[in-house]
Amino acid sequence: MYTTLLTDATRFDALIAIDLDLATTAQAGGCRLCAGRLDHADYPRKPRGGPATLRAAYERRASFCCDEEGCRTRLTPVSVRFLGRRVYLGVVVLLACVLRQGPTPWRVSRLQALLGVSARTLARWHRWWRDDFVQTAFWRAARSQFARPVDADEVPRGLLARFDGEAVEQVAAALRWLSPLTTTSAGTLREARP
Ligand SMILES: [Zn+2]
Repeated sequence: MYTTLLTDATRFDALIAIDLDLATTAQAGGCRLCAGRLDHADYPRKPRGGPATLRAAYERRASFCCDEEGCRTRLTPVSVRFLGRRVYLGVVVLLACVLRQGPTPWRVSRLQALLGVSARTLARWHRWWRDDFVQTAFWRAARSQFARPVDADEVPRGLLARFDGEAVEQVAAALRWLSPLTTTSAGTLREARP
């Protein structure tokens, strides 16, 4: 059940491991411009919306800087935890909107109580999925990967339903699929806050 995912900090550890893996791969690839070595230049983060006991690893987003004098190009790897520059965790932006859809949608007040998010922010996320996400080049190119097409009106609930497994595996797979949207280094993010 998705509610457990949003309240149990141990479920979030799986996402730390995936991000570590994504960051290691990105660093090993070196600088995209000059093939120089990439050093850690991480961003401090204060993510909102997760369980109170979230691990300290969530207070950093991996990012790298080329060590070549005169290049210093930054590379921020894709992430399953941070959806762009939003202060709320990607899992929260996804699941809050999923829980608002379907046959028995959650009330806004219930989501507010669980996640500490304002009705205005919830509405903004909903608009992002409905209006902005479905216009991204990423979505237009990637939606055809699904055997059964996902209707734009069904996003993000219908999108999540296309991934198999227990709730945590399903959500991790969906966030990984969405990860090209999580960094400008990939050239696909429409900057948005929070
Ligand atoms: Zn470089």
